[in-house]
Amino acid sequence: MSKVVLASSNPGKLKEFQQLLAGAGLDVRPQSEFQVTDADETGLSFVENAIIKARNACEATGLPALADDSGIEVDALNGAPGIYSARFSGAGASNESNNQKLLQELQNTPEAERTARYQCVLVYMRHATDPTPIICQGSWEGRILTAPAGTGGFGYDPLFYVPTHNCAAAELSKEQKARISHRAVALQQLLQALL
Ligand code: IMP
Repeated sequence: MSKVVLASSNPGKLKEFQQLLAGAGLDVRPQSEFQVTDADETGLSFVENAIIKARNACEATGLPALADDSGIEVDALNGAPGIYSARFSGAGASNESNNQKLLQELQNTPEAERTARYQCVLVYMRHATDPTPIICQGSWEGRILTAPAGTGGFGYDPLFYVPTHNCAAAELSKEQKARISHRAVALQQLLQALL
């Protein structure tokens, strides 16, 4: 198994990546194991931020690195919150405050115009100066509800209506979400690219 550093300390993501990439002969280790500190996400796109995070982990460890960057794009808000999804409602933002802000911003937006999608970009860098990192992107189409529903998932999931399943993302089982989400699509692409 070859070691790869995951440029994230999120235990949920770590588990997901470890399970899927073991099949490709990769031993995914969290960057915290190497005392890597988080990079400043100064990019203006998911791709830029994922590259910044992966390069930071490569530089600090000398190992190949994997990074992801994700968020939600709302058409009526010209793609916002996008790369700022985690901190949409400002300093000290929580899932609840972000969801509240989203509902407020869309309070006069009719259902047909509440289209949105989750985006996930994954970057695999072989070393810190890798000129051709592997870049994979998955998206997941939906609509923003007018009130939260469900208790599963995280982030914007209670407000994200999934037309294929006629419910909110937070009402899907863990397994259902793991099959169809933006992250699942990007991960499958990465697996294909690495095999
Ligand atoms: P990060 O890629 O972990 O930094 O996530 C960015 C932000 O996007 C999260 O904090 C959430 O607000 C939002 N987000 C990304 N993926 C999901 C998801 O699957 N469900 C709900 N929110 C998500």
